[in-house]
Amino acid sequence: MKDAVFVYSSDLLSYRFRDDHPFNQMRVQLAKELLEEAGALKPEDIAKPRRATDEELLLIHDAAYLEAVKLAGQGRLDPAKAEGYGLGTEDTPIFANMHEASSMLVGGTLTAVEEVMSGRAAHALHLGGGLHHGFRGKASGFCIYNDTSIAIQSIRENYHARVLYVDTDAHHGDGVQWAFYDDENVCTFSIHETGRYLFPGTGNVNEWGMGKGYGYSFNLPVDAFTEDESWLECYTEALVRIAEYFQPDVIVTQNGADAHYYDPLTHLSASIRIYKEIPKLAHQIAHAYCGGRWIAVGGGGYDIWRVVPRAWSLIWLEMAQKKSVTKEIPAAWLEKWQKKSSYPLPAVWDDPEKLYRPIPRKQEITEKNRNVLNRMLQFIEQLN
Ligand SMILES: [Zn+2]
Ligand SMILES: [Zn+2]
Repeated sequence: MKDAVFVYSSDLLSYRFRDDHPFNQMRVQLAKELLEEAGALKPEDIAKPRRATDEELLLIHDAAYLEAVKLAGQGRLDPAKAEGYGLGTEDTPIFANMHEASSMLVGGTLTAVEEVMSGRAAHALHLGGGLHHGFRGKASGFCIYNDTSIAIQSIRENYHARVLYVDTDAHHGDGVQWAFYDDENVCTFSIHETGRYLFPGTGNVNEWGMGKGYGYSFNLPVDAFTEDESWLECYTEALVRIAEYFQPDVIVTQNGADAHYYDPLTHLSASIRIYKEIPKLAHQIAHAYCGGRWIAVGGGGYDIWRVVPRAWSLIWLEMAQKKSVTKEIPAAWLEKWQKKSSYPLPAVWDDPEKLYRPIPRKQEITEKNRNVLNRMLQFIEQLN
């Protein structure tokens, strides 16, 4: 069995709204090439994604929605109907062949699932996936098909495994949460910036699930300007406790990299440090509870130059246990991409000690986050 598989093909880059749209899949290529230049990713590590079939998309999505996405991609969707499907909005504009491009992202996540669930690899990473805002019958927040929900549903139907979904994107993982809100075999945990001011507005701590799924949905909304220490305290204590409580057979992690201080769409103040720690704990949990079974996907991340390539590479370095990487970012990578980037690219893997000016409300934010964490831990306590 392989330790880890990296799912990639340049076909993933065809998921592209507009040149000036913040969602830019070139980040996947940037991360892949960074790993290659660092000597941490070889051709034999890579598995090519396939396109998901309609039958697979229908595991989560409505047939009418699929039809609408297909028509939209051919320029034939009635504009009056488009809005009802969340298509042609400012967030999720229509682009040519959007059905084909979106099915490829789903297929990538399904490829990762197959590698892991078949036992060919212990872990698999698909950075093109993680489109956690996609709904049953509606596109939302840059997401058309919800690859991760489809992957989880296929794990349920084909392998009957209990799935722990962990979402560390700065936005609430709403699409995945609602898809399994009444399901006791899929436990979702999302840590995100509070929805008070940020899209999609949900992800309150008291969204615990419903019906049979009550007690299998966990949310940890943290305050704007939360820094590494407090974020990591919340993530670590919550996830350790949830894993112990739920005892998963497989862990699926969504690794949006938009909680970083530099991210232009959110208001958290994390550094690259959290992106080292996130996969470390996920990896430990995979081995402690799941016989190693861990599927990781990408997600948000809008500073595609300074943040996402490093943050996403760190998942692979952890997963594939590549310890020998140098402190410096490879010169060949910097040379190739610096001319395209509007910012000076970081020359080392770590962020500088002083990334930003001290945040005056640090103590207050830390205490607020701790209160939310404690509410969640107390709730879990009562469930036992
Ligand atoms: Zn996000
Ligand atoms: Zn491992």
